[in-house]
Amino acid sequence: MRISPDDITRHSLWKNPSWVAQSLDMTEGMRRQTGGGVMVKCPWHAENSASLSIRLCRDGIVIAHCFGCGESGTVLALVAAKNGLNNYGGDFQRVLEIASEMVGGDVPRLGLFHRSPVPPPEYPPRDEVAFLWQSTEACSSQMSGWLSSRGLDPFHPGVRWLGQAALWLPDWCKSWTASDHRVLIPLYDSDGIMRSVRARCVDKNNKRKELAPSGFSAQGLVMANPVALSLVRNAELAGDVVISEGGPDFLTMYGKPNTAVFGIFSGSWSHGLARQLHGATVEVRTHVDKAGEKYYQEIANSLPIGGGTTVVRSTLEHGYKDDNEALQHGWRPW
Ligand SMILES: [Zn+2]
Repeated sequence: MRISPDDITRHSLWKNPSWVAQSLDMTEGMRRQTGGGVMVKCPWHAENSASLSIRLCRDGIVIAHCFGCGESGTVLALVAAKNGLNNYGGDFQRVLEIASEMVGGDVPRLGLFHRSPVPPPEYPPRDEVAFLWQSTEACSSQMSGWLSSRGLDPFHPGVRWLGQAALWLPDWCKSWTASDHRVLIPLYDSDGIMRSVRARCVDKNNKRKELAPSGFSAQGLVMANPVALSLVRNAELAGDVVISEGGPDFLTMYGKPNTAVFGIFSGSWSHGLARQLHGATVEVRTHVDKAGEKYYQEIANSLPIGGGTTVVRSTLEHGYKDDNEALQHGWRPW
């Protein structure tokens, strides 16, 4: 008899949260909760005390939720996390195999299922992103005073200019030329595939400084220079890694030799990217404020522990007390 992923997650052994913790080797520091649930250390972020709750929900499925980093999922997500796999896409068959071995069941064949069970975030259609990119040109000093006003090279290789040339534009960016959101920065997923763009307004009086494709997710997407792209595409770690916050600082760091430079904004950071940085010296350049502190913590907590991975927060290291002081040392907040 063929069994489905749902059959596995509903297997009777997995209705017992402490058995789940035991079978996944997660009992160190485990605390029992009223109602049969347990608290254990989270497999998605590094922590010293247990903040991951595993409990049986009313629909008969065990759910894990971390109060520290906010991740959650079924036993399959836990099996994936503990084995360094994704619980969707190409890894999913392996996750099912491990999970069914654990409960002594048959291995389901992924071919039976038409969709991956955890749908990836919805980005703009890839051909439309590609079309938009082909409709752009290199920036120049006539085009973007914004780059120069930020002390950036007007011919910066990391950005493109959305001109009048395009006769047709996708619905999600039709208004961008009218509102002068013309400087485009490409966004990549953790495999280095271009998935979307951010558009920066060149009109100083426009309050909406920046736009993203309306109606689509940008979750898990980052800005990346060529060294960073080669890192995520070919798993080639050639030098140091810099993670910067926001467009201008990313563009400032873009040309640093032998350095993989990533740029993040809210929602960018992903465990998929964190896994790619194993063994790297990672410099996190975030602003000296609450949001910057949150980004730093999120990144530092998600990076693989050991194996030579080092994380440095450059603002703290240099002792800047706020953004103004950091600005005097070459920082460019939005
Ligand atoms: Zn967590």
